[in-house]
Amino acid sequence: MTTQPSDSVDEPVTIDGHWDFAYRYYAGAAASRFFQELRLNRRIMGTHCPDCDRVLVPARGFCDACFVETDDWREVGSEGRLDTFTIMTSSFPGLPEPPLVVAYVTLDGAGTALLNAVEGVDLSDIDAAGQFLLTLPRVRVVFKDKCQGRITDFAFELIPGSTTGSGTA
Ligand SMILES: [Zn+2]
Repeated sequence: MTTQPSDSVDEPVTIDGHWDFAYRYYAGAAASRFFQELRLNRRIMGTHCPDCDRVLVPARGFCDACFVETDDWREVGSEGRLDTFTIMTSSFPGLPEPPLVVAYVTLDGAGTALLNAVEGVDLSDIDAAGQFLLTLPRVRVVFKDKCQGRITDFAFELIPGSTTGSGTA
């Protein structure tokens, strides 16, 4: 239903909408290999930029900073630093039931951060969990038993007792 605007030209107009459709798209050459490496070899791969010397993870076909092609594939570490995070407390289609932690993690050897779920965080007290995560703990990659060539083939998991010591909490 469309909201009827008032007589004021300054009245904000809101229009209801609804999207719900299935679709399929080509992930691209670099993303395809990235996902196949997850599924077949259970490893996290990036591409190295010859100009800025960063390893871009997830792998991509060109450097977003230098605009040069990147086809030098490199495996990065299975552990890394949690850079930033959010704790989702509302459900979202396609994601596990909340609460859940989603974070950007820069894996060892990578020059960019990778977004994925973080498991193993005690979320019985959301505020306390947030304060803990602000210490930017180290995490590790844990692959699922069955990989399907999706980012959900793995999650991050806290490394017990490990923090970078560079957090703000
Ligand atoms: Zn670059």
